[in-house]
Amino acid sequence: MAIIDRRSKSMGGNDKRAISRITNIAVHYSATSSGNTAAFERFWKGNHGWNTGGYHEVVLTNGDVELNYNADTISNGVGGQNTRMYNICYVGDGAPNAAQLKTLIERVNYNRNRFGIATSAVKGHREFSGQSTSCPGLNMGDFRKQLSGGSVSASKPAAPSKPKPNPKQTAKASLAVDGKWGKSTTKALQKSLGTPIDGIISKQPRNSVSQALYSGTVSFGSGGSNVIVALQRKIKVAADGKLGPATVKALQRYLGTPVDGVLSRPSVVVKELQRRLNAGTF
Ligand SMILES: [Zn+2]
Repeated sequence: MAIIDRRSKSMGGNDKRAISRITNIAVHYSATSSGNTAAFERFWKGNHGWNTGGYHEVVLTNGDVELNYNADTISNGVGGQNTRMYNICYVGDGAPNAAQLKTLIERVNYNRNRFGIATSAVKGHREFSGQSTSCPGLNMGDFRKQLSGGSVSASKPAAPSKPKPNPKQTAKASLAVDGKWGKSTTKALQKSLGTPIDGIISKQPRNSVSQALYSGTVSFGSGGSNVIVALQRKIKVAADGKLGPATVKALQRYLGTPVDGVLSRPSVVVKELQRRLNAGTF
């Protein structure tokens, strides 16, 4: 495991804090199958228009770690709670691979030791209050057990075990990840959410979103659709069964793609949805 020091290159603009204010280590995943901090920074700047960066450390797919900020610099990670967070992210859209898990255990133990943080204060992003996200794709209970079993010395990391699948895994699909929401995407969504599987989103109002769907997957009318009700419940937005900009915004927020309420043809949020349906992690 190599430590790549990119602290002098990372996005600036972040506030400082006293290290004594750090109470938690937050574990994230990038929700992308590849990439590194530089790629994520281009996305944050270009797509979100942010001028501050995320994650103190990023664990790459080969197990190396990019060190982006000193601990006294606040980084983006857990919305509204970052003044007390030390954010560590691994690159991936599911569980970390064996090399990443080894590095994660080593880096979390090293930082726990620095900040005097108990294993119970090491949490996945989704475990913090008010966070509507599936981040990270790691069983945090199992992860914490590996921390308590291990030494807090960075030179003696706990032995890695085989990563376990995300307990939230559902049926896997094999969709083309093309960002086009047509019948097959609807079917996979219906299967994942446990509603009748016919590939049709029924009784929809005509709006910018329903009209951006592909190839006969939508039927217009009034009353709303079962699969959209199930989707809305999952992503925590008013469950009226009608697909519109508010539901798209909630979905974008849930999946971590840019939030504008627009369903493009093709669409980034649909691509991410398809990726998650394929991985069984939606
Ligand atoms: Zn996260």
